[in-house]
Amino acid sequence: SRRRADRRPVVYDPAMGTDVAYQVRLQHELRRAVERGQLRVVLQPIYDSRGPAARIIGMEALARWTHPELGVVPPQQFIPVAEESGLICEIGSFVLKEACRLKAAVDAAGHEELFLSVNVSRDQFRAGGLPEEVAAALEASGVAGDRLELEITESLLMEHTAEGEQQLARLGRMGVGLVVDDFGTGYSSLAYLQRFPLTKLKIDRSFVSGLPQDRGANEIVRTILALAGSLGLKAVAEGVETAEQHDALQQLGCRQYQGYLFSHPLEAGEFKSLLVRRNQG
Ligand code: C2E
Ligand code: CA
Ligand code: CA
Ligand code: CA
Repeated sequence: SRRRADRRPVVYDPAMGTDVAYQVRLQHELRRAVERGQLRVVLQPIYDSRGPAARIIGMEALARWTHPELGVVPPQQFIPVAEESGLICEIGSFVLKEACRLKAAVDAAGHEELFLSVNVSRDQFRAGGLPEEVAAALEASGVAGDRLELEITESLLMEHTAEGEQQLARLGRMGVGLVVDDFGTGYSSLAYLQRFPLTKLKIDRSFVSGLPQDRGANEIVRTILALAGSLGLKAVAEGVETAEQHDALQQLGCRQYQGYLFSHPLEAGEFKSLLVRRNQG
């Protein structure tokens, strides 16, 4: 069976997550992880599944860290540490460049149409140079701007500083897609949806997991899809784990799917072989 890129960590013990000494060590180790080549990027396919023959239309890049002694450290552990220590900018740069490099390899196999989605933390915008960094990564890899999406959080959009707004506008002019990640979990104000050149809403897993039984979840997903439709935005559902959830989403009119039902995040090589099997013909 296919090796899963996101198997449970081998050495990591959840109890260590709250240990201060462990946090300090993580921060120290993370500082050298990029240069040591301990970080890598896996790809989770995103499907357009209107019929039984689901096609891969894109992929989300997800960071992975395997430490020689600590083993696999999950992103839920090291991303917050990276954000607190300011390392997220360096890690974000690495992920962006590496993801574009992997996307270029996928392009070379004849799949230029696939989009690449990359997570971006708030501090990467604060630093100010994100549009230039994105332009450089696209240039170096040869990936087209309109094949790249950045996944941003509602909290970032809520800050709406003039600087942040300018950066998002510039990325928009480059053709780069802007996806609101974990949509619906952050803030209740929807004013920002009009202010920024957004292209897609990603329906949070917490709503998807309530389908089909939970009435509230059904209404929320229905509302998000209607909202996306009326604003001319695309929508993608994350964390689709069961055929029942997929059916419910299809009935509600969702077009893009991501989740373990379709595929776990994969190493780049595995992703390419899956693509050959899936998208042929
Ligand atoms: P996210 O952006 O919401 O990414 C989706 C997470 O859900 C991933 O976890 C993915 O492996 C997992 N997932 C996908 N399908 C399913 C499913 O069907 N069921 C369940 N239960 N989970 C599913 P992962 O890779 O552990 O990443 C966790 C979080 O860490 C991400 O959540 C994101 O917030 C952050 N992260 C990961 N890589 C990066 C990165 O390169 N940059 C930044 N800024 N954050 C990252
Ligand atoms: Ca994401
Ligand atoms: Ca998400
Ligand atoms: Ca989520």
